[in-house]
Amino acid sequence: MKPLLRDIVPDDWPNLMTARGEPAYRGRQLAHWLFRQSEWSLETMTNLPASLRERLAEDWDPTGLEVVERKVAADGTRKFLFRLRDAQTVESVIIPMENHATFCISSQVGCAMACRFCATARGGLVRGLSPGEIVEQVQRLAADLVDNPFPQHGDRGFNVVFMGMGEPLDNYPAVRTALDIFTAPEGLGLSVRRVQLSTSAPPHGLVHLDALDLPVGLTISLGGSDDAARRKVMPVSGKASVTEALDAAERFARRSGRRVTVAWVLIDGSTDQLEQAENLARLTANRPFKVNLIPLNELDDDDLAATGSERILAFQRVLADAGVPAFIRVSGGRDIGAACGQLRRRRQGRVDEIAPPSS
Ligand code: SAH
Repeated sequence: MKPLLRDIVPDDWPNLMTARGEPAYRGRQLAHWLFRQSEWSLETMTNLPASLRERLAEDWDPTGLEVVERKVAADGTRKFLFRLRDAQTVESVIIPMENHATFCISSQVGCAMACRFCATARGGLVRGLSPGEIVEQVQRLAADLVDNPFPQHGDRGFNVVFMGMGEPLDNYPAVRTALDIFTAPEGLGLSVRRVQLSTSAPPHGLVHLDALDLPVGLTISLGGSDDAARRKVMPVSGKASVTEALDAAERFARRSGRRVTVAWVLIDGSTDQLEQAENLARLTANRPFKVNLIPLNELDDDDLAATGSERILAFQRVLADAGVPAFIRVSGGRDIGAACGQLRRRRQGRVDEIAPPSS
């Protein structure tokens, strides 16, 4: 595959143009088309000479994603299935919030982390997305939001969260470049406040986390208050100890000046014992953390069940009593398989449908 024009941070385009014997301002013009105008076709970039556009097309692809499916849930959540140039697919979701939209995007095709409760984990890792493939998801979703704004929104603002398919710190160089493109004024011009990285904190990811110098939001997906408990539900990421993960998160919080979110999936009889809540409270109290409790979204092919509401409230109370801010998060878009951890669910369902009946 050729690289994508959007794999390149806007600041690098002037130099790339001069290296090709073109004036530097051509690079600024191209970056403007790509990131400010969200132009998908070189043909329409008419202030660039046709010969230059032809030569660019020999070395780069202008787009890497094609929408193959767009589903809208009863609550307004929209799920997109994108086909990549190598016929792999990823999903992204637009979630309507009170005053903005949240874009939930993917960083990899599949995932190597093998979390027990997550649909993406089922097929293992296929490959990391390139920076342009990550950036293009956001631009495709933004275009959809412009065409179909949520009626309750005063503006078209959106937040971006890396909570779709994949482990962002397992594809760090591409994710870091995408973050630069998101936040550059000549890129998407997004405030770092609007970007949230979510990670299961694999060991090699912690090294990247310590090097991350952008004050984006950070979520650490924990799912176990000690290493043995965590390993049962998050086997790969569990190789980094809970203590190491939270220490790195605290260092990041101090650097960024932003409270880190600890995400905790509540699975019946597995991650929801009050003893775990007490341990979690001890791990998070008096630190720059808050806890998001996410009742499990059950997968079709699995026997894990969500925690009941009474237990969820009791779990939350243990944290609150210890002074830890704890919020219960309910995901939208369940009816279209767009909820946390459910991406890819429907396509797996399709495979089930063609299996012969067992009786
Ligand atoms: N790999 C990254 C980002 C993708 S998962 C990470 O682990 O953070 C995003 C969030 O969805 C994580 O907090 C994860 O714990 C949660 N999640 C995954 N599957 C889920 C499910 N079936 N039900 C509820 N939350 C789930």
